[in-house]
Amino acid sequence: MTEPILTLANVEAAYGAVKAIRGVSLSVPKGSIVTVLGANGAGKTTILKTISGILDPQKGSILFKGEHIERRDPADIVRRGLSQAPEGREVFPLLSVRNNLLMGAYTRSDRDEVARDIERMERYFPILKERSEQDAGLLSGGQQQMLSISRALMSRPDLLLLDEPSLGLSPKLTQEIFAIVKRINREEGVTILLVEQNAALALATADYGYILELGRIVMEDRAAVLAEKDDVKEFYLGQK
Ligand code: ATP
Repeated sequence: MTEPILTLANVEAAYGAVKAIRGVSLSVPKGSIVTVLGANGAGKTTILKTISGILDPQKGSILFKGEHIERRDPADIVRRGLSQAPEGREVFPLLSVRNNLLMGAYTRSDRDEVARDIERMERYFPILKERSEQDAGLLSGGQQQMLSISRALMSRPDLLLLDEPSLGLSPKLTQEIFAIVKRINREEGVTILLVEQNAALALATADYGYILELGRIVMEDRAAVLAEKDDVKEFYLGQK
């Protein structure tokens, strides 16, 4: 077994009185793509927020590269090598595409390397080069998603958290983005934790998957095995 880069043990988190995740345990092996699937409101985004330090868990532990990161500052967590491309993209609309990418590298001081990384991102997503000087707010939804993923990669993370990259995108564009996510995983060696409602594509892309219902993990297995399970087919893949 490959050693885990991230391990959650019995993590609980809430918004005031609303318990959003109720004892989640999961593990992400180094170099892999792991997906967490679940319906709207299952708690997927909350899991990512507790990992990236935006929300403090009430209970449980989160180990990243062997160190506890629960209740740490989000910027400290980014510095340790963990970065998130948020749901809804959230690019800086009034900054140029290039400056958005530079913002992603704010923890770094190696300017030549940063410039090289921008070129690398532009090779993965050539549209970002074409639109380099344009305000990011003028990009289409799909292009903003590409920018959001690239910006997250600019901190050179060991682990990238992706929150619903398919949200609001056409099936074709979603497929293109997932194919590039897989390339980035293979070519850059970045481990990826992917949260998705599009179960078919997520299972086709990931190595391992967890199914989350009402804040609890109810099933886990290799992605190829999950894709063949009757319950998963019925509830998440829309097949009977
Ligand atoms: P989605 O696909 O809609 O993002 P999700 O699986 O990511 O769903 P979460 O956003 O993690 O789900 O939400 C889990 C639960 O926590 C839901 O019941 C939701 O209503 C609640 N919740 C989420 N954010 C807040 C908030 N800021 N304040 C109060 N309750 C919240």
